[in-house]
Amino acid sequence: MNVLWIVIDCLRADRLGCYGYHRPTSPHLDRFSQDAVRFTQAISPHIPTEPAHTTFFSGRDCFSHQIVTQGGSREPEPGIPLLPELLRDRGYFTAAVDNIGRWIAPGFEQYETYPRWDHRSAGPWRNGEEVTQKALAVLDEAALRRPFSLFLHYWNPHSPYLPPAPFDRMFYQGDEQSPRHRSMDPVWDSPWFFNYFSEWLSGVRDIEFVKAQYDAAIAYTDACLGRVFQRLDELHLWDDTLVLVHADHGEELDEHGCWFDHHGLYDTNVRVPLLLRLPGAKAGGRSIPELISLADLAPTVLEYLGFPELTRGMDAVSLLPLLDPRSNLRPGEGPGREAIYLTECTWMRKRGWRTPDWKLIAALEPDIYGKPPVELFHLRTDPGEQVNLAQERPEVVAHLTRSRDRHISRRLRDTGLPDPLIEQADALRTWQPRFIAGKL
Ligand SMILES: [Zn+2]
Repeated sequence: MNVLWIVIDCLRADRLGCYGYHRPTSPHLDRFSQDAVRFTQAISPHIPTEPAHTTFFSGRDCFSHQIVTQGGSREPEPGIPLLPELLRDRGYFTAAVDNIGRWIAPGFEQYETYPRWDHRSAGPWRNGEEVTQKALAVLDEAALRRPFSLFLHYWNPHSPYLPPAPFDRMFYQGDEQSPRHRSMDPVWDSPWFFNYFSEWLSGVRDIEFVKAQYDAAIAYTDACLGRVFQRLDELHLWDDTLVLVHADHGEELDEHGCWFDHHGLYDTNVRVPLLLRLPGAKAGGRSIPELISLADLAPTVLEYLGFPELTRGMDAVSLLPLLDPRSNLRPGEGPGREAIYLTECTWMRKRGWRTPDWKLIAALEPDIYGKPPVELFHLRTDPGEQVNLAQERPEVVAHLTRSRDRHISRRLRDTGLPDPLIEQADALRTWQPRFIAGKL
């Protein structure tokens, strides 16, 4: 049994057709989703990229692996293997097309990389084709060396949103620089990231254009995935390959004034698409509403491949019982969670506690956007997290804070390690101040 694990950076669930989006951003993923199980409440607990990948490849939370920042100096706690390493030791050919490097790379026997955006060009960013080209070559090789585990990491929905033609005009036909537009004024008025946005959004006055470019970058990535799926067909791999497609985190467009990146513990950033296709399309088309963490993916994959002993020590649970239509789980019986602990320690330093109904976000230090220190959102009535109820519902804040703190205390006791949000201060926000404070 093979594994093909595809991560699309910054991909929001609500921008895909198979999650109800009105624009045709994802025809290939939509078709794929008909044969896959679709999770509607999949949460990436530790964002952004490096903490997220460490979490879903280790099956552990930040109290165990200690990674909460992007670009921090801390390495994962020793003795925590990542999934590719575990599979390599079980005889799998492990390969990746990725550019995170760091501690993600060593577990792969073959690690193909590609350049990041170089900040020098606002021309089309054709990263997806580079990933695909390398992916197809590796897939051809891997198919000869079964069983294999192949990880592909696409970056295009990440800013800068610079999709190539014809995608660039797919969802926007107007004049984004017309003086009649004023919707980008708040973005240009904000001191933060002015330099960065100037590099690729120079002259843009209509924010709908930027959102359309994000969607177009998804459509471009989807077209790239179409080629990967076609190669799976040609190599007759669908029947003995477990295929996962998900994001490491989502993206903020203009919902909370944290534009075109993934700052903040809002659902735009932490609720991600997750499609899991079992060989033979078993349980295909099912939708799973339970609250689950991306940490659960490592034990799910290992158990499916027949290595339950390798899940020992993981702080996550296999999702397989949710995939079995015969299991008839009653609420509270399955692996779905009552709450998930969230962290961001890169552009903001915050903890979150997310239940199916509520989101509590608490700051450890002021953030650059001037958000309140405590935010409370009722997700059932306010899924867009627009109305902060922290003042109005202090009893809910107190209740959720108690549950969250009990969880933190228990995890600190279990691991005997420090609280990484307290311990670690180094992150992009501290060592790239010139980058974030472009206009000051
Ligand atoms: Zn990422």
